[in-house]
Amino acid sequence: MELDVQDIVAWIEKSNENIQANKEYLTTLDQEIGDGDHGINMARGFQEAAAKIAEQTYTSSADVLKDTAMTLMSKVGGASGPLFGTAFLKLSTAANGMDPISYETFTNGLEEAVNGLKQRGKATEGEKTLVDVWSQMMNYFKHETDFHAETIAEKAKKAMEDTKDMMATKGRAAYFKERSVGSIDPGSASSFYIFQALADIVER
Ligand code: ADP
Ligand code: MG
Ligand code: MG
Repeated sequence: MELDVQDIVAWIEKSNENIQANKEYLTTLDQEIGDGDHGINMARGFQEAAAKIAEQTYTSSADVLKDTAMTLMSKVGGASGPLFGTAFLKLSTAANGMDPISYETFTNGLEEAVNGLKQRGKATEGEKTLVDVWSQMMNYFKHETDFHAETIAEKAKKAMEDTKDMMATKGRAAYFKERSVGSIDPGSASSFYIFQALADIVER
């Protein structure tokens, strides 16, 4: 299957819904190993992104993804804004002139997103950050040839849960050292909601 502009719009809307519905949970996670603002940061950013997208009629998926990226970068305070902004900006670049987006194009975008996240966060896999979810999803997408809703959601959940046993070495959670073990990384939980939203979109 392919993703058209309306699918991408629906993806951002659904991501926003998931994040609003889990705002308190994201806050709780960030209270455990951070400063407790992740739910507020993400809820604000995605609310603004969804509102911006609802204002316009788009003919290009890349424009939807770019407006999302720019909004997240400017409206989300904290480390996660520029990071999620980078991920969506890389997806936008990969999607440029590629409507509708094929599975291969989306996978290429994910690969660029992971590279961008690693560069911006100076982080790699296993450091208990959102890189862990995006990287595992990229690897999973590379092994498949088409979107499978159920597996996308399952893999993202597993990737998020895998961060629980890790010790944070990047971001605020790194200050907690060994005490960061046993909590799910907040940014990985947000990333799970974004991939869960994607799974919902490809299921339709
Ligand atoms: P802040 O830590 O500035 O309060 P948030 O609470 O919104 O920002 O976001 C925290 C999340 O950002 C973490 O859970 C982690 O997934 C991600 N993060 C933080 N620092 C980095 C980094 N250097 N590289 C990758 N991801 C990071
Ligand atoms: Mg925080
Ligand atoms: Mg903060």
